[in-house]
Amino acid sequence: MNAPISTDVRETASVARSIQLISTGKQTGSTCGPELARPTWNFDTAPGYGPGASTADAIPGDAPQQVPIPAEYREASDEVLADRIRAAKATLGDKLVILGHFYQRDEVVQHADYVGDSFQLANAALAHPNAEAIVFCGVHFMAETADLLSGPEQAVILPNLAAGCSMADMANIEQVEDAWAELTEIYGHEPDADGRAPLIPVTYMNSSAAIKAFCGRNGGIVCTSSNAARVLEWAFERGQRVIFFPDQHLGRNTAKAMGISLEQMPLWRPNLPLGGNTEDVLNDAKVILWNGFCSVHKRFTVAQIERARAEHPNVRVIVHPECPMPVVDAADEAGSTDYIRKAVEAAPDGTVFAIGTEINLVQRLAAEYPQHTIFCLDDVVCPCSTMYRIHPGYLAWVLEGLVDGVVRNQITVDASVAEPARVALERMLAATPSGAGTKSAAR
Ligand code: SF4
Repeated sequence: MNAPISTDVRETASVARSIQLISTGKQTGSTCGPELARPTWNFDTAPGYGPGASTADAIPGDAPQQVPIPAEYREASDEVLADRIRAAKATLGDKLVILGHFYQRDEVVQHADYVGDSFQLANAALAHPNAEAIVFCGVHFMAETADLLSGPEQAVILPNLAAGCSMADMANIEQVEDAWAELTEIYGHEPDADGRAPLIPVTYMNSSAAIKAFCGRNGGIVCTSSNAARVLEWAFERGQRVIFFPDQHLGRNTAKAMGISLEQMPLWRPNLPLGGNTEDVLNDAKVILWNGFCSVHKRFTVAQIERARAEHPNVRVIVHPECPMPVVDAADEAGSTDYIRKAVEAAPDGTVFAIGTEINLVQRLAAEYPQHTIFCLDDVVCPCSTMYRIHPGYLAWVLEGLVDGVVRNQITVDASVAEPARVALERMLAATPSGAGTKSAAR
């Protein structure tokens, strides 16, 4: 986990600033859509995830919507908002902890007490049991996880309720329960001679609390991109097969690195009978992959890696395991955001890195480690649509609400869901006691 970055670094690293400069022709380059340059509240009443990598993904009809924030927040400059956020933070003192995800824009991250991945940040909140408010500058499932792990008196706040996650939304609880019912019809409930259950559900951290609770109720477990291999080992010690939610790529890359053949990893397409598979295929399956993906990491291609290698013969290519399998296979290494950050930190001066993960993290690393050459594999600036929805205006709005004694945008997981979801998280912690886990799908 990082400390907050300095203002100097922010000036050179800001993706939001790059987008503005590109849109006005003051900087060369391209973005994945001109709408990225518009203020994010323009999209709060529009359907969809908003501009960025997930813009074309189907958003669920019941996705949370953000109420319009007052004009004083929408019309203030970045400098005024930064001053107001700092003032509110100073007033709230130890009653407040602000968490910033690695993929969050720098204008928000500069105010964070902790910067890290979703699970690191949820754990960071545990170090502040006296904080009355935990403001999570990330996306919805992350705030839910923080609520699961925080104390009953603590309020977890998501500054913009429209900051969902298109990947997490690709597995909803009704679809998952339908799939489970169909698979149970085929596999039954009886353990094999070694006492292993027919099927174990495993969900990536990037899923709703309802899916985590489903796993908790059905003998399953949660994983992160750092510990997915160890968690799959845990599952195979207890089950004959696994169904992996919601990211097919993390599931495939991890299982492949463990020696499982592609033929034994059928894709489950919700809404199709048997997920679009035959009974024979499902009987032979070891890992059933839910048909979800991250639209940020799906943008990376083998052609981008080939171009990086042609232009920089000594380049070290690191990609996130949410990237498609051919991209992970063509890279030198694959690992979580924390793995990527540590690899950059440990590299000898002058290393050239081509990185396949969200642009805010890559640009920040490039600014923080000027002794290296660091660039994003994708030269089109295309941030995560929903992380990008957390503008400093929303952060100022929720913080000034707290100063006035008003809790805005609180994320609360119902107790009936929270209890089994915690069971699945606790199984992960027990299975990966180091906490840090291992590099996933490395070559
Ligand atoms: S980067 Fe992908 S997985 Fe992460 S929040 Fe954005 S859409 Fe979800």
